[in-house]
Amino acid sequence: MVIAIVGANWGDEGKGKMSDLLSKDAEVVVRFQGGANAGHTIINEYGKTALHILPSGIFRENVVNVIGQGVAFDINAFFRELEEVKSKGMKNPNIVISDRVQILMPYHIKLDEMEEERLGKMNFGSTKSGIAPFYADKYAKIGIQISEIYDDEYLKNRLTNILTAKNKTIAALYGEEKQINIDEMYEFLIESRETIKPYLCDVSKFLNDKIKNNKNIILEGQLGSLRDLDNGIYPFTTSSSPVAGFGAVGAGIPPYEIKKIYTITKAYSTCVGVGAFATEIFGDEAKELRDRGGEYGAKTGRPRRVGWFDAVATRYGCMIQGATDVVMSMVDVLGYLDKIPVCTAYEIDGKVVKDFPTTLSLNKAKPIYEYLEGWKCNISDIKEYKDLPENTKKYIEFIEKEIGYPIKMIGNGPKREEIIEKP
Ligand code: GDP
Repeated sequence: MVIAIVGANWGDEGKGKMSDLLSKDAEVVVRFQGGANAGHTIINEYGKTALHILPSGIFRENVVNVIGQGVAFDINAFFRELEEVKSKGMKNPNIVISDRVQILMPYHIKLDEMEEERLGKMNFGSTKSGIAPFYADKYAKIGIQISEIYDDEYLKNRLTNILTAKNKTIAALYGEEKQINIDEMYEFLIESRETIKPYLCDVSKFLNDKIKNNKNIILEGQLGSLRDLDNGIYPFTTSSSPVAGFGAVGAGIPPYEIKKIYTITKAYSTCVGVGAFATEIFGDEAKELRDRGGEYGAKTGRPRRVGWFDAVATRYGCMIQGATDVVMSMVDVLGYLDKIPVCTAYEIDGKVVKDFPTTLSLNKAKPIYEYLEGWKCNISDIKEYKDLPENTKKYIEFIEKEIGYPIKMIGNGPKREEIIEKP
């Protein structure tokens, strides 16, 4: 069976923990989009690890970890992270990489940096991992597919063609001195190609064979619905599609094989970088929530913007994912509050709005809150739903009704086993 583990919100919902947990019954974990800008934090017997490009099944010996063709593949980041995982004692991580994946080149990272600088105050809050320039090139068909780097003449011609044009743009926009050296880029690819070769495979064929043999496959999304290029808070989105349905494309499998879509949402909201965020809170109130939730970016260390649970955004986020099972993480974090606000609607231009609007309207949205009673205790040791404080159950069930999708699991701590099934 194929299951997807994806985010309902702005990312950082706690997907990594779920993939790590559910991969115990899986044979394959697949990253199908995004690049090394992910930050999945996993805490298990190997300690705490922030994974950026490696799939979250990496710590399980029997799991094959797949980097699908939809990923922005950063070779340097890949080898860096592989070394880190090995240095923690994971001897032989099991990895395959699609022979159709495209390479995130060093110049994509440089272009990302230069463009964010040029944009100044209008910047996108990019992690500067090269993701937007990478996908722009891919869609303009001037990306480098990994299979192309094994033919010297073809590669040289292609790089010359692509980079001659790119250098003209760079000269005009950022100045001559920032030109990309074509020979250096050629050498970079030639040097990496033998080390990468043993990992390459026809991922689509590999996965379709696994499906035929009834193996369990996890599609692991990065970020969440609201960052989807088509369905999110454009232009403050990522440049790929973190939606479960895109797993079919980014991994090359039939869409109807994705049977379960675990959609992760947090008990409150967080958002990294810029873009509309209706329930955002500030000052001491925000700092307390941020510190209690450890809301600092796994990739950048940046303090995350924090706010209350947004049922309008999450209802939409679950719909876009096609959620079959909602997982609410970080419920333990809220144990300090007397009253907990939940946003059930927005007020936009004097009207009450229940459906998530497009970005310019969202910029004007004021949250309408309902206030639920807090439970004022630590719930991390609780193992069963029935043993949770009444007010915790009321909070979860109120949100479940508001979003209209079934909450099946509750996260009550960062560790793998800190999860409660909701009957
Ligand atoms: P991802 O990108 O969706 O995988 O999310 P991140 O890993 O960036 O952020 C989730 C953070 O919350 C990580 O530090 C997790 O260890 C932690 N976490 C996940 N689930 C829970 C939970 O239920 N409670 C608490 N307190 N922390 C959690």
